Amino acid sequence: MDAETHDDKVKRLLDEAESYCAAQGTQLTQLRRLVLETLIASSGPVKAYDLIDTLRERGHRLTPATVYRILEFFLHNGLVHRVNALNAFVACSDGHMVAHNPLIVVCPGCQTTTEINDEGLYTSIFTRLGALGFEIKDGTVEVRGVCRKCAKDGTA
Ligand SMILES: [Zn+2]
Ligand SMILES: [Zn+2]
Repeated sequence: MDAETHDDKVKRLLDEAESYCAAQGTQLTQLRRLVLETLIASSGPVKAYDLIDTLRERGHRLTPATVYRILEFFLHNGLVHRVNALNAFVACSDGHMVAHNPLIVVCPGCQTTTEINDEGLYTSIFTRLGALGFEIKDGTVEVRGVCRKCAKDGTA
């Protein structure tokens, strides 16, 4: 199989999101598509205000309320994840398009994230927390980890 180019990946993830929304009986409207495309095309997590700026540079003036409403829609559907450590949002890299609890590794050097989905891992974390009496509200687990490149460059 040929290696997927960046543009191919953006297009594939957008197409998958479109089918997913259709299957859910909802729509990937033009504005939603625009926001998702910006997140997917970005090299890492994006802060809401940077997202608004990028959209404005591309000729789309969206109010913060509109952008947050769209982000909420994507968070709810598992197409986008919130990265609390960076106060930013990242497109789901997995494309399995169901609400899920990812483990997100945040590199403090380059501020990029890596998403890991491992059912067994969550089951053990949540079973343990449940046994301790916790009712989980947000299952995203964030871990700080220096990526290979930053470790090599000594930038983190
Ligand atoms: Zn995901
Ligand atoms: Zn890094």
